[in-house]
Amino acid sequence: MREIYYEQIKAAVKQCVLKANLELPEDIEAALRVAWAGEDSERARGLLQIMLDNAEMARQQRMAICQDTGLVAVTISIGQDVHIVGGDINEAVNAGIREGYQEGWFRKSVVTDPLERVNSGDNTPAVIHYELAAGDHFIITVLPKGAGSENMGQLTMLKPAQGWEGVRDFVVKVVKEAGGNACPPVIVGVGIGGNMEMASYLAKKALLRPINRRHNKPRLAQLEQELLKMVNRLGLGPQGLGGATTALAVNIESYPTHIACLPVAVSLGCHATRRSSCEL
Ligand code: SF4
Repeated sequence: MREIYYEQIKAAVKQCVLKANLELPEDIEAALRVAWAGEDSERARGLLQIMLDNAEMARQQRMAICQDTGLVAVTISIGQDVHIVGGDINEAVNAGIREGYQEGWFRKSVVTDPLERVNSGDNTPAVIHYELAAGDHFIITVLPKGAGSENMGQLTMLKPAQGWEGVRDFVVKVVKEAGGNACPPVIVGVGIGGNMEMASYLAKKALLRPINRRHNKPRLAQLEQELLKMVNRLGLGPQGLGGATTALAVNIESYPTHIACLPVAVSLGCHATRRSSCEL
């Protein structure tokens, strides 16, 4: 049995949230540069240039990429041969977020109760997902997600007969309805299959995959490319002010489902989609 300590987890989460909020992932920055080169509109190019300059300044000056430093979704992929020592794993994750958000001077954006709405004061608790599998690995991935894009996500339960056309129409509708609210160019995370909660989880998980990597199933990879073209034909462009780049990528994740179900969820990541990962 491999032992992993509370303090190791706390330190790793702290470093992850600092990195995520200060350094735009390389694949997203590269995609913004490609988008800049492909835009004809001066306004769209200007907006993309501001996004690139902003990312550079955040990295250099150690300031948050965006003022909305989000509610942190944490995914922990853990091997069943791992034993956590020295404290509660959830506490360790939240302690790391608390310290990271304090040190980085990041905005505290979490309320303790969705209706009473009192700020927790330290950006905890996180939303934590565990993926348990064989082995002794321990991989932490953080996704601090701002509300502008998060609020634009949607879930639907299609009829199986609606098939790919139904999925396609729903995804395009969600991006269109989001307009400029999700701070495009967006990354479109699509979860297909499972049940209600699994589809939503898959959509969020899809945002964790680097956007220069297509799905390993050729059929889904092809659908990702098709959907990207359709979404970009909407012409929303950077910040919803027009242009060729409404989305930088469409990432799909799927899972087996019931014979009578076709759940589809869409989670939109903004141009400042922040994620960071580390392995203990
Ligand atoms: S959607 Fe993204 S870029 Fe826009 S305000 Fe929220 S975190 Fe910032």
